[in-house]
Amino acid sequence: MNGRFPPWLTPTWEQLSSDWRQGRLAHALLLSGADGLGKRRLAERLAALLLCEHPADTGQSCGHCQACLWLQAGAHPDLRLLQPEEAGKAIKIDQVRALSVELAMTSYSGHHKVALVAPADALNVNAANGLLKTLEEPTADTVLILLSASPGSLPATVRSRCRHLRVHRPDSGAGLDWMHAEGIADDTAQRCLQVAGGAPLAAVELAAGGVLAERDRRLAQLAGVFRGRDDPLRVAADWLGEHEARTLGWWRDWLQALVRWQQAGLPPDEPQVAQTLQQISESVDCRQVFELSDRIVAALHSLGSGLNRQLLLEDLLIDWARLARTRRSAAPVT
Ligand SMILES: [Zn+2]
Repeated sequence: MNGRFPPWLTPTWEQLSSDWRQGRLAHALLLSGADGLGKRRLAERLAALLLCEHPADTGQSCGHCQACLWLQAGAHPDLRLLQPEEAGKAIKIDQVRALSVELAMTSYSGHHKVALVAPADALNVNAANGLLKTLEEPTADTVLILLSASPGSLPATVRSRCRHLRVHRPDSGAGLDWMHAEGIADDTAQRCLQVAGGAPLAAVELAAGGVLAERDRRLAQLAGVFRGRDDPLRVAADWLGEHEARTLGWWRDWLQALVRWQQAGLPPDEPQVAQTLQQISESVDCRQVFELSDRIVAALHSLGSGLNRQLLLEDLLIDWARLARTRRSAAPVT
């Protein structure tokens, strides 16, 4: 990963560091923007500034005090991270209570305490309500930083207690420059940036580790199941693992693209996706696609709740295969 600070984050950073210089940094911040834009980088830079023992007046941590060394080692006792215990799971009320207790105690270094809620979208209703008390009655020198890709889904009571800063997508030229600096060839960079919806850090992740190839394979498997060439149960077994949420997210996006195409006549930007979806689009009912997409969204929310993931995937894939058959059997005989 490039150590350079992403330039498109600079305007938001300028606001934060200016607030800090003037001593009026809010005690609760909400940083919103699509995943893969670098909200976490911003939050970590701010945490470093707040925890540093000798920050420069310009708003830079010194990089060599004890606090900075702890941070570089990945462990500062006054930096708390509130995140799901497992990826894709919800943040629970018990975790929020534990954080509140920790924040109420004196800081280890005698300076700030910083808590990062990442992602705040993972707070379930109880956890969000539990966090309200901390937001309403912050302990001295405590800064809470909430990260969210969909701030609209956070309770209004939480949003209204935070200073809300939005991180915007860079234009594609700036995004591609960033990716080239990461050593990614232009063709791959362009496709990954497109797939990642213009979010460069997400695009870099896609380009690395064969994620894009995995995505292509998932799309081919869905097309195979739809046409009756692939066995839904075998595909479900193949999907089972640590990346189910990612796969379901892609599937949801493709179904939503299919609905957009059918209803608004807007084909997907990606030629590979358009080609596959076109064949499916001709033999499927828009309403049923919509219903399945809703079920996938619900499945994404319930992934961490202890239900049988294999059964869940099997159910969805069997119904996906059934969509094709329903339409075929309902088609008038000509
Ligand atoms: Zn320092």
